[in-house]
Amino acid sequence: MKPLQLLTYEDIKDLKLVVFDVDGVTIKKGTQIEEIKTADKTKFTISTNNLTPEMKDALFKLKQKYFVAICSGRSSLYLTDVFNDLLWDNFYLISEIGIFTLIDGELKQNKKFERKYLEKMKLIKNDLSKLVGDKPEMADFELKQFLITLHASYEIPEVYEIMKKNDPEKEFYCLWNGEAFDIAPKILDKGESIKFLAKELGIGIYQTMASGNGPNDKSMLDAAGIGITTDKKSVEADYYTEGNEELGGFEIINKLLELSK
Ligand SMILES: [Mg+2]
Repeated sequence: MKPLQLLTYEDIKDLKLVVFDVDGVTIKKGTQIEEIKTADKTKFTISTNNLTPEMKDALFKLKQKYFVAICSGRSSLYLTDVFNDLLWDNFYLISEIGIFTLIDGELKQNKKFERKYLEKMKLIKNDLSKLVGDKPEMADFELKQFLITLHASYEIPEVYEIMKKNDPEKEFYCLWNGEAFDIAPKILDKGESIKFLAKELGIGIYQTMASGNGPNDKSMLDAAGIGITTDKKSVEADYYTEGNEELGGFEIINKLLELSK
């Protein structure tokens, strides 16, 4: 791994697409989820940090020079709400860890899930719901189309037992990111999704750069022409940022704007 400051113009001369993770890269980490179910009502609240005006401005400047994509575990609805002002030119939203891509007014599902995956997802979610029922103060689900995201106050070991029981074939991943478990079929990940987007944009995967800070970013950091980690203790890549670990995206944008002047 090399520090980002060693990136040169020569390294990015063919670059067309720059992809950013959200939590911890473009928006500060920290999500609280609460779901209160009674016999006749369900109340759901989510509280997250906002996209700052400075980050919005930096992303806006960057999309004047490159295609820019956000690639996150969040739902498409959430990402559309948060990044709405940056749509639609040169700006794309990949949601649910690579399952959907919002591109030019169309929400594309990157691959269809076979029935066997869908049935397995139901069983896993069902068992997790029972677990949440036993520990409601510690865990709750975030609303998603397919990706199962269980927010928890600690890495609950029973979650791995539930995975073992329902997925002995190990067709699903189950990643703990420090604030939640993300569970979905392995056939789709962030790496596959940026290959999908590059193809849609008619560019080569070597013309892409991806940045992230956690285990669910590993596949896209490896797939992209240039991978940058903003948290080198959690995930490795070609380059690492050295400054603000809470919002490493700034360092990347500043470096690219400086090199592409
Ligand atoms: Mg992250």
